[in-house]
Amino acid sequence: MGKVALITGASRGIGKAIALKLASVGCDVAITYAGNTEAAQNTLSEIEKYNVKAKAYKFDVSNKEEVEENIAKIIEDFNQIDILVNNAGITRDDLFIRMTDDKWNDVINTNLNSAFYVSKPVVKLMMKQRSGSIINTTSIVGVYGNIGQANYCAAKAGLIGFTKSLAKELGLRGIRVNAVAPGFIETDMTKDLPNKEEFLKIISLKRMGTADDVASAVKFLALDAEYVTGQVLEVDGGMLI
Ligand code: NAP
Repeated sequence: MGKVALITGASRGIGKAIALKLASVGCDVAITYAGNTEAAQNTLSEIEKYNVKAKAYKFDVSNKEEVEENIAKIIEDFNQIDILVNNAGITRDDLFIRMTDDKWNDVINTNLNSAFYVSKPVVKLMMKQRSGSIINTTSIVGVYGNIGQANYCAAKAGLIGFTKSLAKELGLRGIRVNAVAPGFIETDMTKDLPNKEEFLKIISLKRMGTADDVASAVKFLALDAEYVTGQVLEVDGGMLI
């Protein structure tokens, strides 16, 4: 295939599934993570069976200097980046009235500012390549809002505006920019959520999504959807129609 994919937050969950999916079709993969080295090493071990080049990079996506340093390293190691998946993200939920500055800033920095920091050097490279595909992991709550998640929804809605604006700016350079908006997906992020049964009532497909469900949508946007840009693909089992 000869393509290189960079996936942030790929030690676990959705990012890991995306890395495995893209490796399974022959992409070389650079994965990043925050601190869970054991999980990142496990992801690399699982990728081994696909006989592609794979490396892991530990840095905080909300720290501009760390991002710049590590993206430069990734470009040096892989020479090109064809697919960027801005996936790393966190939740710090609370009702708005109780939301602290720290909770607000942590989520905006990690889920939104990170996409600005990571995309900047990657877009510069893609502009030289005159091709590339960027996929931002937003969320259905970024489209519809959610109680207790004003910080997270603001960041995810911001990513949608970011996606559409970059799609308009970069189309003429051969770069497509899209977003996936997962619904209720089984990962560490959702493992402690109360009232799971309540969610299932409103999901048309009557099951939670898997990380692999999201990875399939990302692969479609990254590799198959050659005439699709600026779109938000909702992967929520028909939770919000
Ligand atoms: P997860 O299982 O909690 O995994 C989060 C990943 O992001 C890990 O690889 C983690 O690295 C990395 N990460 C977290 N903070 C970071 C930071 N500051 N710098 C670098 N890496 C960082 O999450 P997930 O459920 O797979 O979610 C992935 C994305 O999908 C997120 O953007 C999330 O908002 C979005 N999403 C998830 C759902 C859902 O239902 N799960 C729904 C909609 C959207 P470590 O392993 O080193 O901590």
